[in-house]
Amino acid sequence: MNIKKDEFMTIESINPATGHSIQTYESHTDQDIEAALSRSIRAHQALKQLSFADRAKYMHRVAEILEQDVEKFAKILTQEMGKPISAAKAEVKKCADVCRYYADHTEGFLEECEITTDAKRSYISYEPLGPILAVMPWNFPFWQVFRFAAPALMAGNTCVLKHASNVPGSALAIADIFKRAGFMDGAFETLLIGSDKVEGILKDPRIKAATLTGSEKAGASVAAIAGSQIKKTVLELGGSDPFIIMPSADLEAAVKAAVTGRTMNNGQSCIAAKRFIIHSDIYEDVKARLKVAFEELKIGDPMEEDTDIGPLAMPQIRDDLDEQVQKSVSMGAVRVTGAEVMAGDGYFYRPGLLENIPEYSPAANEEFFGPVASLFKVQNLEEAIARGNKTRFGLGAAIFTQNEDETKIAVRELRAGGVFVNQIVASNPRLPFGGVGISGYGRELSDIGMKEFMNIKTVSIK
Ligand code: NAP
Repeated sequence: MNIKKDEFMTIESINPATGHSIQTYESHTDQDIEAALSRSIRAHQALKQLSFADRAKYMHRVAEILEQDVEKFAKILTQEMGKPISAAKAEVKKCADVCRYYADHTEGFLEECEITTDAKRSYISYEPLGPILAVMPWNFPFWQVFRFAAPALMAGNTCVLKHASNVPGSALAIADIFKRAGFMDGAFETLLIGSDKVEGILKDPRIKAATLTGSEKAGASVAAIAGSQIKKTVLELGGSDPFIIMPSADLEAAVKAAVTGRTMNNGQSCIAAKRFIIHSDIYEDVKARLKVAFEELKIGDPMEEDTDIGPLAMPQIRDDLDEQVQKSVSMGAVRVTGAEVMAGDGYFYRPGLLENIPEYSPAANEEFFGPVASLFKVQNLEEAIARGNKTRFGLGAAIFTQNEDETKIAVRELRAGGVFVNQIVASNPRLPFGGVGISGYGRELSDIGMKEFMNIKTVSIK
C-alpha cells in the first residue's frame, strides 16, 4: 500500500493525474487518538438518547450539504484518487441518497419485532453497540464511508474512521460534513493515521466492533485482532467477478455493460466485472465489439467532463497491475488490445483485453485492480458457471441472457454475494451488499447491513 509518510509523521495526498503533491497533513498522535475515542464514547451516550426523528433531521442535513457542495467534494475525490469528475459527482450524490434512505427508514427497520411464544410477550429489540471502527479504502472515498456511517449513526452507533492514507482530504471533508449537519462532537471522528495504529484502537475497550473494506491481507489482520478481543467484524474485500454472456443476450446492451463494468472508476472497483465468460457462438463478435469500445474510451485528465478513464490511484496500483498482465502474457495470454503502461505524467494505464488465458495465470486467478479484462471462451452454460465459480473470491456475478431457464440456473449456481441479470453488479442502499469466500463476510446496506452492528436483544416476559 502506497502510504506517503515521512519521518515527521505526515500524510500527503498526491494527484495521480500529475504525480504532484496536493497537500501534506500532520498525522494524529496517540493523544489525539485517545481524545477521539473519549469523544466517540461520550457521543454514543448522547446519540442513543436522541429520537429517530432528531437523528433523521441531522442526516437529511448531511444529504443537503452533499448536494449543495457536490462540485467541491467531487473535485477533492478526483484530485486525490483520479476518478473522472462525472463519476465523482455521481458518487457524492449517491451518498446523499444513502443518507436520506436511512433517515427515512431506520425507525421502521428497528421497530420491536413481536414473536409468539408461551410467554406473555416475546419480542426482539435492536440496540446500538457504541463506537465502531471503520477502516476504509480510497477507491470510492466518500461512498465507502457513507454507506457505513449513515446506517451506523441512524442506529445510534458512533463512527471512528481510519481512511486510506492517500485520501486524507476526503477523510477530513467527510468529518466536517457530519459536524456541519449538527451531529454532536464525537459522533463521527476521523483519524489521519497509518495502519500500524489500527491494532491499538481495535483493542481499546471503547471500540465495540469494526468494519473494513479493502484487501484480503488487511481484512485478515483486522479480523484476527478483533477476534482476539471477541469483537464483531464485517469485511468487504476484493472480487474477481464473472460476467457471462450467452447467445440469447442483447449483445449491444451486454457489450455496453461489459465496458462500463470493467472500466468504471478507472477499473478500480471491487465489484467490477473482471472475467468475461463468453459463449463460443458469439465469442468473436463480442471480442470485436469490446475491442472497438475499449479503443474508443477517452483517456486523460479526470477533471474533464467527458473523460472516461483517468489514472490509476497510485504508482503501486499501476505497477502491480502491469506485473500481473506481463506475467499472464509470459505464460501464454494474448493481448487483444491495450493493457500497458502509458508514457508521460501520471499513473495512466491503457485499458486492455486479454484472451487465451492460461489456467494458473494471474489473469485467471487474481483480482486485476485496473482496466484490463480477461476473456474466456466456453461451450455452454455449465462450463460458464464452472469457470465463473473457479475463484477464491465471491463478491458479485453478472449474466446476460434472455433465456429464463439459464437465468434460474445461473442465479442458483453462481457462488457470489449477489447475482445480477442483464445488468452490471452495483450497490443499492435498499439491497444487502457483501461477499462470500475471500470477498469477506457480513453485509452492508439495507436493514440487514444496519443490524450487523446492533445488539439483537431477545426479550421474554412471563
Ligand atoms: P488495503 O491496502 O487493504 O487498504 C484498505 C484500508 O485498510 C486502508 O485504510 C489501509 O490503510 C488499511 N490497511 C491496510 N493494511 C492494513 C492492516 N494490516 N491493518 C489494518 N488496516 C490496514 O486495500 P487497497 O489495496 O487500498 O484497496 C483495494 C482493495 O479493496 C481491493 O482488493 C478491492 O477489491 C477492495 N475493495 C472492496 C470493496 C467491497 O465493498 N468489497 C470495496 C472497495 C474496495 P493505509 O492506506 O494506511 O494502508
